[in-house]
Amino acid sequence: MENRVISGDTMNIILFGPQGSGKGTLARYITNEYGLCHVSTGDLMRAEVARNTPLGKKLSEIMSKGELVPDEITNKLLIEKSKSKECEKGMILDGYPRNKDQLELVKKQFKIDAAIELDLSDEDSIRRLSSRRQCSKCNSIFNIVTVKPKKEGICDNCGSKLFQRQDDKPEEIKKRLNIYKEQTAPMKKYFSEAKILYKVNGNQTPETVWADAKVILKKLKK
Ligand code: AMP
Repeated sequence: MENRVISGDTMNIILFGPQGSGKGTLARYITNEYGLCHVSTGDLMRAEVARNTPLGKKLSEIMSKGELVPDEITNKLLIEKSKSKECEKGMILDGYPRNKDQLELVKKQFKIDAAIELDLSDEDSIRRLSSRRQCSKCNSIFNIVTVKPKKEGICDNCGSKLFQRQDDKPEEIKKRLNIYKEQTAPMKKYFSEAKILYKVNGNQTPETVWADAKVILKKLKK
């Protein structure tokens, strides 16, 4: 896929959607097309857990219970990442903001061009997550039912091992879906009132989701 960056422009996008709605996959398409960096606060935290630092151990405990990580930690990880060279063309925020205080930080620190919501029912979310597998190195997402890796248990993109996330078990998923709804309702209201909230049907193939999202992004660039 061609890496097309529109010179001089920056663009910040927020991706909303319940767990398993395909935010990571859509973010990959947007990154390839527009050169934005994909900032998933969940991935930033899992990277810290993988490094087994004292902070990583603390995060692991909170995340395995499906609870939200304190803002103080989350915001520090986000701000650090946003200042990296990789993010100079702008960011796709995935999994952030998740509460009012995080929304305040976004309003203060970043110009948001669009908030895209990937719409998916609870049943579809649970079904997808139970079969989701993630690459331990590059974070690519596969699904053992719908988007199978070419070789079982191995990432197509970098050849590393795939794993099932601790919090991708049905009980934990339900908890996370409830937290998601509760916490994101006020965010959606804010972006809707700001007239930058766009909905995309998440229950489609990755290519169709991308085609729908592209229509929205092209309009923003005009
Ligand atoms: P995700 O990968 O977005 O599903 O996030 C996995 C877990 O990471 C969540 O259940 C939280 O424990 C934590 N997390 C990710 N993003 C945030 C955030 N913005 N605020 C607080 N906790 C977060």
